[in-house]
Amino acid sequence: MRIVRYRGARGVGWGAWDGDTVRPIPGFGFDKAVRPSGEGELLAAVTLLAPIAPPRNVFCLGRNYAEHAKEGPGADQPLPAAPIWFTKSTTAIADPESDVVVSRSLTRQLDWEVELGVIIGRGGKHIPEERAREHIFGYTVLNDLSARDLQYARGQWFYSKSLDHLLPAGPCLVTADEIADPQDLELLLRVNGETRQHGTTRDMIFSVAAAIADLSRGITLLPGDVIATGTPSGVGMGRKPPVWLEHGDVVEAEIPAIGLLRNRIVFVD
Ligand code: MG
Repeated sequence: MRIVRYRGARGVGWGAWDGDTVRPIPGFGFDKAVRPSGEGELLAAVTLLAPIAPPRNVFCLGRNYAEHAKEGPGADQPLPAAPIWFTKSTTAIADPESDVVVSRSLTRQLDWEVELGVIIGRGGKHIPEERAREHIFGYTVLNDLSARDLQYARGQWFYSKSLDHLLPAGPCLVTADEIADPQDLELLLRVNGETRQHGTTRDMIFSVAAAIADLSRGITLLPGDVIATGTPSGVGMGRKPPVWLEHGDVVEAEIPAIGLLRNRIVFVD
């Protein structure tokens, strides 16, 4: 099932997207059985919102694709021997088709990162790797937008990746039963129609299941938690010379099995 969060004639809610119609899902919860009921609305008549509602910061994996780990200032470091975790603030979450509004006073080096987003259904602790997929509610497309100048000036990743609007998500989430293998998904990112990233989740260093097992060994996972699983190569900081997003750029992050997430970059002073 394709699930969206949307603003429609009856306000904001969750719904099932089928063809050109969205049907409401009353009492939606990430740890509940999901059943659409009631009258649908035309997709064209509603506004899609980010299809995630994490109960706390979004968990993120850094340097989780080998080719990407060799991009930028960390290129000479060894590949991670264990997952590198950081988080992004929930206030960074941005809707599909929304403008990403960023102040030039904060960054002039805004970069893109298409990522598979994993949404936890049933929570838990000490989740074994072989049972990790039982805890996944679904998947979405994330763009882990990153202010590289802040990232490397501050000695940590949180602030530079948590600025308001720096986590576009959507356009929908796809329930886990519809993704046969999360380690066999194509990821693409285009800027103004030009392909900048084209990878596959086969190249993750730590798989989705390994990441869930590692995280839940120390931190109890909650329904609705979101994990951003890292980005393949092709980010702006890895280009020679580096390339940054400009005012008016249209960024499309896509996982064809899930959908296409489009946002426009707007710089303000
Ligand atoms: Mg990332």
